Amino acid sequence: MRIRSVKAVYPNYGNVISSWRTHLWQIVVEIRTDTGVAGYGYGGGGLASLPIVNGHFNELLVGKRLDSPDDIAKIWDHLYYESIPYGRKGIAMMALSGVDLALWDALGKAERRPVADLIGGVKKEQIDVYATGPDSEWYAELGVAGQKLTHRWAGTTDDAVESAQNARLVMGPDAKIMFDVYMSWDAEVAVRMATDLADFNIYWFEDVLTPDDLVNLSYLRPKVSPINLAGGEHEFGVAGFKEIAEHAAYDIWQPDITWCGGITAGMKICELARRHEIPVVPHRGGEVWGLHLIAANDACDNLAELVLGHRNAAIDNLWIGNPWIESGKLSVSNKPGFGVKLNEQML
Ligand SMILES: [Mg+2]
Repeated sequence: MRIRSVKAVYPNYGNVISSWRTHLWQIVVEIRTDTGVAGYGYGGGGLASLPIVNGHFNELLVGKRLDSPDDIAKIWDHLYYESIPYGRKGIAMMALSGVDLALWDALGKAERRPVADLIGGVKKEQIDVYATGPDSEWYAELGVAGQKLTHRWAGTTDDAVESAQNARLVMGPDAKIMFDVYMSWDAEVAVRMATDLADFNIYWFEDVLTPDDLVNLSYLRPKVSPINLAGGEHEFGVAGFKEIAEHAAYDIWQPDITWCGGITAGMKICELARRHEIPVVPHRGGEVWGLHLIAANDACDNLAELVLGHRNAAIDNLWIGNPWIESGKLSVSNKPGFGVKLNEQML
């Protein structure tokens, strides 16, 4: 089949966390083909990524052949090279991610196979989940494997100790408990935290320093061990992860499949991770885009993130049919493509 049209839209979100996300949250990419098959992808960059997809990428994509994973790899390389002057990282790569995922969805639908099947087949039928947010009671009821707490440094370790204590108590002795600190700590704080949280068997500290501070991350790793350093949601493409690998900056890599360059970049990052014996735990990996990669790729740990927040929090249901937790676990469906439908009422 050949690509007939490419269109990116920015949905009407009602419940985006107030931050950069208010302006630059996720886009939807639709790719239509001459056989009537349409694929949908999820990318980043908000309104700023629309002219990239609807202008430049559209011009490069219309008429291109789409019959195999190899065709997708060629298209990815083409878009990447053509966008180098303004791309490589950030919004252009977030836009390319949406296109890549729409291509995989379209190919899966054309062949009536799930994306996981196209990229090596399902190797994990049941995937452990960790929940991000503060609602330990709800997460324990759901039976998930872990909880990631968010923390912002405000001059004391007391609040972190208190939330770790509560999470450990409610989630039980075997749960994975993590901290995402969103670049609000420094190396000294991280070492203090490792000491003060030593009783709670913390699995990882995430985003301790900025992604530009790889040298200091590599110094910090042994100092907070056995707590792992995790990161990578703000890195892009296999080139970015090569730098992380060269610096030995993280114990666990967390590419976001809707930002880092899609499934195509995700597979290359996994290959690199395998060579360096680093486990991959994709950012927001419990959403279908990352979940298919986790299910199919053994460089990924058996662990998928769902950002759940509070039990009663209002949410935007943009993708209908995203798998939900059963007995604490997620599975990819055997529906074609990514197996989700766009909620057009949000457009
Ligand atoms: Mg994070």
